[in-house]
Amino acid sequence: MPPVASSLILELKGLCAGYGEIQVLWGIDLEVRHGEITALIGSNGAGKTTLMRALSGLIPTTAGNYFSEGRDLTGDTAAEILAHGIVHVPEGRRLFGAMSVEENLLMGAYLRDASRAEINRDLEQVYATFPKLRERRRQAAATLSGGEQQMCAIGRGLMSAPLLLMIDELSLGLSPLLVDQLVAALRELNAGGTSILLVEQDVTIALDLCHRAFVMDMGRIVRSGSGSELLADPIVRDAYLGVLHE
Ligand code: ATP
Repeated sequence: MPPVASSLILELKGLCAGYGEIQVLWGIDLEVRHGEITALIGSNGAGKTTLMRALSGLIPTTAGNYFSEGRDLTGDTAAEILAHGIVHVPEGRRLFGAMSVEENLLMGAYLRDASRAEINRDLEQVYATFPKLRERRRQAAATLSGGEQQMCAIGRGLMSAPLLLMIDELSLGLSPLLVDQLVAALRELNAGGTSILLVEQDVTIALDLCHRAFVMDMGRIVRSGSGSELLADPIVRDAYLGVLHE
């Protein structure tokens, strides 16, 4: 299939992927637009993390197509996809524990062809968004709290100058206060132009934060709409918010 003339950051058509013999994603159609926060919701095991892994090239796709800004990324390696600007902040954060916060952040800029001045400017921007990271910049990442580790992982993603920042499980294991801080930071980043694809198990947070959301079930997209449309959708409320039909 030839690349489509489109400025969408992500355009998936019938994407399939899995682990060896086990197929997990069954024909995913999905669109992510510039400047938006897009959320992926769904119950445990629906395939959200698997989709992020396929999008970042960590697992191969087996059918379908994956375009970004009209470029066909289907079959590209993780390094090529990262160089294109699709940046994955994985579940569990995956920081280099023995390295300092600042060293971890600078690792995000490793593949960039940017001047030291540009990198320093972006580092300042990350510290402005997450002042805690500036305070702790010389501290080993392993000694950070869970919330600070999530800030550092997001900061490292930002240091890659992402076209799209994909965050898996923003709030997992964090206190409500920290989650509020992270949500405020994502709103601020998005207002500054960062496009975000978010996997979030707290459906209320996800739908409240996003412009558009896709609901996954058993490896398929079963619903999509604006956050407010899905928040008002009786089936979504029943299945994911524990609210019975009124
Ligand atoms: P959760 O919120 O629980 O992380 P999820 O929607 O992110 O759920 P995935 O982690 O993508 O779901 O899992 C989707 C399916 O893929 C599950 O059935 C899971 O058991 C399977 N799966 C995940 N990782 C692997 C793996 N490495 N090998 C084989 N199967 C896997």
